[in-house]
Amino acid sequence: MAGVDLHTHSTASDGTDSPENLVKLVAKAKITSFALTDHDTTSGLLEAERTAKQLDINFIPGCEVAVDYNGNEMHLLAYWIPVQSLTLASFLTKLRDFRQKRNQEIVEKLQTLGFKVSMEDVEAEASGNVGRPHMALALKSKGYVQSVQEAFALYLGKRGTAYVARELYSLEQGVATLVKEGATVVLAHPCLSLNADKASWNALLGRLRALGLSGIEGYHSSHTQEQVRLCADIAKENNLVLTGGSDYHGLVKPNIQLGIGSLNMRLQEYLLQDLQKKRLEQGLPL
Ligand code: AMP
Ligand code: ZN
Ligand code: FE
Ligand code: FE
Repeated sequence: MAGVDLHTHSTASDGTDSPENLVKLVAKAKITSFALTDHDTTSGLLEAERTAKQLDINFIPGCEVAVDYNGNEMHLLAYWIPVQSLTLASFLTKLRDFRQKRNQEIVEKLQTLGFKVSMEDVEAEASGNVGRPHMALALKSKGYVQSVQEAFALYLGKRGTAYVARELYSLEQGVATLVKEGATVVLAHPCLSLNADKASWNALLGRLRALGLSGIEGYHSSHTQEQVRLCADIAKENNLVLTGGSDYHGLVKPNIQLGIGSLNMRLQEYLLQDLQKKRLEQGLPL
C-alpha cells in the first residue's frame, strides 16, 4: 500500500541521512510522496528533489521553523516553500543566527558543568545546521551519557541543567511571514508543544486560521490515540486540514520509522491530497 510522509529531517539539519539517502529510504519504505522539512534551512531541498525525480517519488519542498507562543516553543511546517524568496531567505538566516547564539550559550553552560566539550566537538557531529541533537551526540561520544535521550533528560531538554531558551519570532509572525511568501503552513505536533484544553485550542486555531494557517499535524509519532482524536476534532471544528508525518531523524531517533505517524499506523495518501486541495482552493501552485 502506498504511503506518504510529510515530516522528515536530513543531515541538512539534525537528521542522520543525507537528503539523497533519505529519498532512497523513502523509496524502500514504499512511500510515494514525501516532504523534507529540515529545521530553519532549505539547503537539503535541491538534492532531495533531484533524487526524488530519479526515483519517481512526488516531492514537496518544506521546512520546519520554531516560534514562540507565550513562552512555549512551537513548531510550524511550511510546505511548497518558495526557496527563491529573499524575504524567506532572510527570515531563515535570522532563525539560524538565533540558533547559533543559543548553541554557543549551551556549550558554555556544559563547560561550566565540567564537561570538556567545545563547539568544534559539536560541529564534528553535524554536517548541516547545528542543534541540540549534535550536542547530545558529542556528550555521548565523550562518554558523558549513554544515549541522546539521557543527554536531553539531564542537560539539554527544557528541564536540563544546560538548557537555554533561544530567541524566536512569535507564532503569529511566523505564520504570517510564511503564508505571505506563498507557503502552506501547518502547525507541527500540536500536543507535543502545548498542553491545552479543547476550548483553548479552538481559540488559538481560530486566530491562526485567520492569519492563513492551513492545517494541523494530528498524526505524529509523539501523539497518543487521545491526542490524535483531539487534533481530528479541532481540525474539523476550525476547518483545518488534518495532516501527518513521522518526524523521522534517522539514527538519532531510532524509534521513529519513515511513513509511520501515530499508533504504528502508516500515513495515507489522503493526508496529502487534502492539503493539496486546500492549496488549490487558495489559488496556489503545487
Ligand atoms: P534544537 O533545534 O537545537 O532546539 O533541537 C531540537 C531537536 O532536538 C529536535 O529534533 C527535537 O526533536 C530534539 N529533541 C528535543 N527533545 C528531545 C529529547 N528529549 N530526546 C531526543 N531528542 C529531542
Ligand atoms: Zn530535529
Ligand atoms: Fe518539531
Ligand atoms: Fe521535526
